[in-house]
Amino acid sequence: MKKAIITGITGQDAAYLAELLLQKGYKVYGTYRRTSSTNFWRIEELGIENHPNLILLEYDLIDLSSAYRIISEVEPDEIYNLAAQSFVGVSFTQPIATAQITGIGAMNLLEAIRTINPKIRFYQASTSEMFGKVHAIPQNEETPFHPRSPYGVAKVFAHWATLNYQESYNLFATSGILFNHESPLRGKEFVTRKITDAVAKIYLGKQEVLELGNMDAKRDWGYAKEYVDGMYRMLQIDEPGTFVLATNQTQTVRDFVSLAFNAIDIDIVWEGKEDKEIGKNSKSGKTLIKVNPQFYRPAEVDLLIGDASKANEKLNWKPKTTLKELCNMMVKKDLERNENGGTF
Ligand code: NDP
Ligand code: GDP
Repeated sequence: MKKAIITGITGQDAAYLAELLLQKGYKVYGTYRRTSSTNFWRIEELGIENHPNLILLEYDLIDLSSAYRIISEVEPDEIYNLAAQSFVGVSFTQPIATAQITGIGAMNLLEAIRTINPKIRFYQASTSEMFGKVHAIPQNEETPFHPRSPYGVAKVFAHWATLNYQESYNLFATSGILFNHESPLRGKEFVTRKITDAVAKIYLGKQEVLELGNMDAKRDWGYAKEYVDGMYRMLQIDEPGTFVLATNQTQTVRDFVSLAFNAIDIDIVWEGKEDKEIGKNSKSGKTLIKVNPQFYRPAEVDLLIGDASKANEKLNWKPKTTLKELCNMMVKKDLERNENGGTF
């Protein structure tokens, strides 16, 4: 039986990846960090929290000693490093913590692998945020990095550390540069889920208005469940490498808002510009969306659109779910959750 450690089991991607690896017959060791009230709602929603082959281990990315401990104890075949301070917005207010968790945290694992068992295969969760300021589109494995947030900077460090350990010590250390991927399990601080949750609440009369920041930003949004399959494939081939996963489609935040309201049969008409922009219900004329500059970032990533040809060719990986399908799925789930009283 193959053994895999997945860091960040309380997060979106780790929950889906754990589900996939369990289906493939793995023993999965999911790590979580100690908090006063640990929340396993994602693995609970997927119904895997009591799976006999899922073992939960306490682990903090910034604690090198616990990296040594878990790797020595578990003796894994594969490690997927999905844990991170993953929210760009918070990285501006907590840049040092972000650097330590998201940057050094990855190196702690690489160092432990190098000394304990260099045969362990390692996946690093890199991000399209590393491309940052637009230098070329669509972005692929050759596009230069120009990160625009402390999160992007920390991820560039972890990405290069991964490649450096691959080159220096011959580790099977792979970096997946994943463009934004969403799902009903996405955290509510991220814009898609913030929108779908608000649409559900507005539909049910629990919220009046949705406040957002920069709606001109364009993102290449895919479905998280398909992206974790790409991660798995990256560790099954013969050579380590760097792979972009993306849909090769891009939409503005405004487009996503319109799609989400369409899911409850509301058409939005847009009026005004910049921080005075509002979105109204086309029939009732009621204002449903306002801009609040509080959600602007000190520096923005304006446009992401990825080219996943390499993943298609080498991993036979291709995204299938359209943004409309994804958005409908998220609104539907948030309606269900809000109708049942609770949301995460
Ligand atoms: P989430 O924010 O859902 O999950 C992040 C996980 O990291 C949580 O389990 C969190 O634990 C854990 N974590 C945070 N700090 C620490 C720490 N100090 N020690 C141990 N664990 C910690 O992220 P996603 O699932 O969306 O993303 C997975 C990975 O992929 C992340 O590294 C992210 O940066 C990266 N990525 C994500 C993209 C996306 O669009 N989703 C795009 C590209 C890359 P807790 O619950 O306790 O906070
Ligand atoms: P990111 O691409 O990792 O930063 O993912 P997010 O979902 O956090 O943000 C995507 C884009 O939406 C960014 O360009 C944000 O500036 C923009 N955005 C606009 N309003 C909001 C908001 O209220 N919350 C968040 N999180 N992002 C917003």
